[in-house]
Amino acid sequence: MVSYDFPDEAGHFGPYGGLFVSETLISALAELREAYERFRNDPDFQAEFRDELAHFVGRPSPVYHARRWSQLLGGAQIYFKREDLNHTGAHKINNAIGQALVARRMGKTRLIAETGAGQHGVATATVAARYGLDCTVYMGSVDAARQRQNIYRMNLLGAKVVEVESGSKTLKDALNEAMRVWVTNVDDTFYIIGTVAGPHPYPMMVRDFQAVIGQECLTQMPEYAGRQPDVVIAAVGGGSNAIGIFHPYIPYENVQLVGVEAAGHGLDSGRHAASLQRGVPGVLHGNRTYVLQDADGQVIETHSVSAGLDYPGVGPEHAWLKDTGRARYVPIDDEQALKAFHDCCHIEGIIPALESSHALAEAVRLAPTMGKDQIILVNLSGRGDKDMHTVAQQSGQQWG
Ligand SMILES: *Cc1c(COP(=O)(O)O)cnc(C)c1O
Repeated sequence: MVSYDFPDEAGHFGPYGGLFVSETLISALAELREAYERFRNDPDFQAEFRDELAHFVGRPSPVYHARRWSQLLGGAQIYFKREDLNHTGAHKINNAIGQALVARRMGKTRLIAETGAGQHGVATATVAARYGLDCTVYMGSVDAARQRQNIYRMNLLGAKVVEVESGSKTLKDALNEAMRVWVTNVDDTFYIIGTVAGPHPYPMMVRDFQAVIGQECLTQMPEYAGRQPDVVIAAVGGGSNAIGIFHPYIPYENVQLVGVEAAGHGLDSGRHAASLQRGVPGVLHGNRTYVLQDADGQVIETHSVSAGLDYPGVGPEHAWLKDTGRARYVPIDDEQALKAFHDCCHIEGIIPALESSHALAEAVRLAPTMGKDQIILVNLSGRGDKDMHTVAQQSGQQWG
C-alpha cells in the first residue's frame, strides 16, 4: 500500500488545483474552507451525512455481476457499481447532500448552482426541497432549450431556474453568473458545485463526499466477488464519479485505475471532450488543471453525445493522477458508447446513462484481453432514462 495525502493545505494536487479567483471571492472561500475543515472531522456531521445517504438516497448501492455480458465477451468478469439505483438516478446526489448539510450548518438559507445538462441542477433542487432551503439554478439559455424536462423537474421541486443569455449561453456562462451572484450574496447563499472542479476546497470536498462509492466497493467486492478488482473503470466529465470510486483504491497498487474521456467524433476530429488526453495545463474555473484550449489560450467548444461529459476542463486531482501514472485515461467515442449502451440494455436488462456507457465500452474492449478469473469493476454512474431522446435521435427515430 502506498500512502496518499492530497491536496495540501492550499488545495494543491502536485502542480494542479489551488485557488485562482478574484479578490472578492477569497473571503467566501476562506469561510467555506474553515467550516468544512471543522465538519470534515466532526462525528456528528459524518453521522448525519451517512444517515441521509442510507434513508434518502438508498445507500449502499449494490455491486452487480454482469454475468451474461462477461460470458459473451469471454474474458474478465465485469461488475457494476450501481449508482444508477440512487434516488434521482445518479451519483450526483451524494455530493449535493454533503454540500447542503455544510450549507445548513453554516447558517445559509439559499442554495445556488449552475447546470449544463441539468442533472446537477435537479440534484441541487432535490436537496433544497429536502432541507427547506431556497434554490436558484443558473443555466445557459442554449442548454435550457435542450433540457426542458429537467427544467420542469427543478420547478416541480420548488427551484427557480434562471436562463443566462451572456457569451455562448452554455455551462461556462451559467458558471460565471452563479459566481457573480455568490459574490454579492455571500451572507445567506451557498454555492453548490457539481463536480470535483472549482477553487479549493471544492475539489477536495466533492471528492470526500463521492468517496463513499469506492469505500463501499472496498467491503462489497471481497464479500460478493471474493476479492478486490484488477481494474476499476469510470467515465470522466469533471471527474466526480471517477474520483469517488478511484480514491479509496489509490493505495491499492495492484488495482489499475482507468478514466474514460469522451472522444466524441474522434480525438483528431477536434470534436471531443478529452481534456486530459488533448488538453494542456492552464487555469479554468478557479483551479489549475488540463484544459482544452486553442493556440491563443481560448477555451475550445467541446462535443460529446453525452451532455454530462461535455466539459473543457477536468478536476485537478485527475491531472495529478495522470502525471504520476497512478491512473490512465483513455478515449471512447460516441459510436462506441452508443454500442455499449444498447448492448447493456439487451444483455443485462439495465438502461445505463450515456456517460456511464463510455466506461462500459472500455470494459468491453478490455475484458477479452484478460483472464476469466480477473475482475473489472465499472462505475455505473447513472441510469439512462434522461437520455431516451438523444438515443432515439442518434438511431434516426422519433421519441416523445
Ligand atoms: C454528470 C454525470 C457524469 C459526469 O460528471 P463527473 O463529475 O465526471 O462524474 C457522469 N455520469 C452521470 C450519470 C452524470 O450525471
